[in-house]
Amino acid sequence: MELAIFLGVLLLVGAYFATPNSCYVCGQSIKKTYYTWKIEGKKRVLCPKCNTQMERKVSKQAFSKKFG
Ligand SMILES: [Zn+2]
Repeated sequence: MELAIFLGVLLLVGAYFATPNSCYVCGQSIKKTYYTWKIEGKKRVLCPKCNTQMERKVSKQAFSKKFG
């Protein structure tokens, strides 16, 4: 019985650390929707707002690379 409780707590803690809870850029807590980006070789989580900015930044970089 006690072991079952221990395992349950362990699962809860594991789930807490497995799910991203804040945006890498602005630090805003993630509620429902989030986007993953590979930044500095690591998987980072961005909120929808920062994702839009990131997409803009990446497309701008690609554009200047091609035409600049
Ligand atoms: Zn953000």
